[in-house]
Amino acid sequence: MRLVDTHCHLDIPPLSAQPQAVLERARQAGVCAVVALAYDLKSFDAVEKLAQLAGVAPVLGLHPWVAHEPLDVADLEKRLRRCRAVAVGEIGLDFKLEGCDQGRQLEVLEQQLEVACRLELPVMLHCRGAFDELLAVLCNASKPVRGVLHAFSRSPEIMGQFIDAGLHIAFGGAVTRETATRARRAAAACPAERLLLETDAPSIGLQGVPAEEVEPRHVREIALCIAGLRGISLEEVAEVTTSNATALLGPRLGAARP
Ligand SMILES: [Zn+2]
Repeated sequence: MRLVDTHCHLDIPPLSAQPQAVLERARQAGVCAVVALAYDLKSFDAVEKLAQLAGVAPVLGLHPWVAHEPLDVADLEKRLRRCRAVAVGEIGLDFKLEGCDQGRQLEVLEQQLEVACRLELPVMLHCRGAFDELLAVLCNASKPVRGVLHAFSRSPEIMGQFIDAGLHIAFGGAVTRETATRARRAAAACPAERLLLETDAPSIGLQGVPAEEVEPRHVREIALCIAGLRGISLEEVAEVTTSNATALLGPRLGAARP
């Protein structure tokens, strides 16, 4: 069985302390590739370095939480090419962020969507409190945007709008909580060809596992939970989600076979 964790922050403690050990535990759980995302400008160097490890696919971008940082678009492009990044991210909109500058978030998102378009890369999107605004940005883009709406925990109705806009949907630890009815309904209803798995480690806990203990290996528990919700086997979930991840993110993931 081969699983892919399409969203993880390997450069953040405690994962950053022993990335090799984290990756070995992931491999033992059947996770053949881990997508490591940058977040702020400071994390770009760390993620580029982690990309040298077998099984790690890098993604660079400026998160909406740090939209105030001075993004140098030319530098981002140079780095994305240099580390053979599989996507641009983590980018997006978070209008629930206290005191946020919505205009600046939109500006930085649009700049990075243009970079992704120029380099023909997909994007990894974070969205909180701005689903209508994000949808409008995607629909107004000059070319269709390929990418992932990550850590999805909203309703199947909202999901459907982003599926129609061409995105893949990644589900993480939220679906393992019995109280997360909306997220679980969405994970059950997501079209198979758009379904992806992620942990967002170490940011989101699983039922019984606190966020700071979550590692890419936990993608197996998430896959098992989604298998139950969809009434299919763990192997079927692994097969469909890994084939979706490889088709979207490219052969770099395939090259990351253990
Ligand atoms: Zn993240």
